[in-house]
Amino acid sequence: MAIGEAYRTVKGGISEDVTLICVSKTRQIDEMKEAYACGARDFGENKVQELIGKYDSLGLDTRWHFIGHLQTNKVKYIVGKVHLIHSLDSIRLLQEIEKRYSAKNEIANLLIQVNIGKESTKTGVAVEEIDAIIKIAEECKNIKIKGLMATIPIGDEENCRRYFAQMKDIFDNLKTFKYKNVSMEFLSLGMSGDFQIALEEGSNMIRLGEVIFGLRDYKKLEV
Ligand SMILES: *Cc1c(COP(=O)(O)O)cnc(C)c1O
Repeated sequence: MAIGEAYRTVKGGISEDVTLICVSKTRQIDEMKEAYACGARDFGENKVQELIGKYDSLGLDTRWHFIGHLQTNKVKYIVGKVHLIHSLDSIRLLQEIEKRYSAKNEIANLLIQVNIGKESTKTGVAVEEIDAIIKIAEECKNIKIKGLMATIPIGDEENCRRYFAQMKDIFDNLKTFKYKNVSMEFLSLGMSGDFQIALEEGSNMIRLGEVIFGLRDYKKLEV
């Protein structure tokens, strides 16, 4: 029961205020059940098809997190199924989510994904674009912005710390404003290699794949 043990070890070492998301992309249902049996309820997927395929396999109390780039043409498949979308990365996507969620009378909970390292290979909005997204969100009826998410550039500890601290500053600053449909509750930072640093810098939501499930088979990832 290595997976369950890994889950319990991490969970036991973090504050109760921190949400631990088991990133289950490429994993089999049986592996996910091991984590579920040990109390895991938050699962993260980065492909719509994979999430939909797994949706009914765990208990009804499972909270699904969508953490990958969300294509606008796939929004319609996840309406009402996802607890939190971490990857709001454009106004176009926001408008599509509003449209699809309002058609089904559902509320979408979103994190704005910030490209904090200004990496051309990554999605996410630039820091300067956050305000524009919030302005549009304030006019929506079926959108709740709940915080921020980022994946940071690969680098040494000092670099990681710097990016996480920048995100925390932006998060804290946004918290001081009163926006409609926006509440800064979740700061989703930290993966297997850097989550301890992320927590030290103020993250309250960590997304862990390999620490829980072991190494991923990257051949399976490219589906
Ligand atoms: C895959 C992934 C993770 C988990 O990565 P690990 O290194 O396995 O912990 C976290 N966040 C996002 C956005 C991912 O795509």
